[in-house]
Amino acid sequence: MSNRGLLAAVTAAAVCMGIVYAQTKQGQKKSSGGGELGYSDTPQLPNQKWKVHDVERPRPRDVAPGARVGDPPADAVVLFDGRDLSKWQNRRKSRDGGGFTEARWKVADGYFEVVGGTGDLVSKDKFGDCQIHLEWAAPATVKGRSQLRGNSGVLIMERYEVQVLDSWDNPTYADGGAGSIYGQWPPLFNTARKPGEWQVYDIVFEAPRFENGKVVKQANATVFLNGVVLHHRQEFIGPMAHRIVKQYEAHAAKESLALQDHGDPVRYRNIWVRNLGAYDQP
Ligand code: MG
Repeated sequence: MSNRGLLAAVTAAAVCMGIVYAQTKQGQKKSSGGGELGYSDTPQLPNQKWKVHDVERPRPRDVAPGARVGDPPADAVVLFDGRDLSKWQNRRKSRDGGGFTEARWKVADGYFEVVGGTGDLVSKDKFGDCQIHLEWAAPATVKGRSQLRGNSGVLIMERYEVQVLDSWDNPTYADGGAGSIYGQWPPLFNTARKPGEWQVYDIVFEAPRFENGKVVKQANATVFLNGVVLHHRQEFIGPMAHRIVKQYEAHAAKESLALQDHGDPVRYRNIWVRNLGAYDQP
């Protein structure tokens, strides 16, 4: 082949490749076939509105994770960053007349501590389906036994309790230890640390759904304590109760996160929540 012929052939090939490339690009845009951004000629996924690798399916939005595991991701609602309780208030005990007061738990050195008798600490922000991270420590000075040692609790929607208790060398009933869904489900394991040591909860919570005042989907939670799974999508039978089974009562789609005042000076730090509003959308 002459130089000229070679040039013509290369040019033709390049043009041809260009056309193929353009077609591929167009094919992706029109989602009419194979392409790195998805397909439209693939089978329907069962129980979803999307096809396999659907080119039209919305892609996950970017969320910058915290610098270290446990730090709040970019889209988290930070409820306590070590400084103040401006995101909280106390719900006065009913015997004290109920209602709210300014947050009265003690803040010191990057943590806060339950002040017995002031009532549960209730977030001003409200949440439905969500991811919760918080760290807690049972009192270093060991006092009391069973449920009267280092008792507090994570009251999701002010109702559904993941128990906080000093469960180090402290036998109690199975559905009442640290990590239990109180009064309903024992944790799979006891992964509690010693009193005074910081412990980490990571919780994924799905809120209950109500129709015409009746529960049509129970709340459930996946719970990790110190990195170990204790519950996986475990359903709440109803709101937290002592010695009885309580039935669901319809409530708002979003409610406050609360921390229980059980009288013991349990400490908390690094609390953040992420809304998972679209979690159950297919
Ligand atoms: Mg409790």
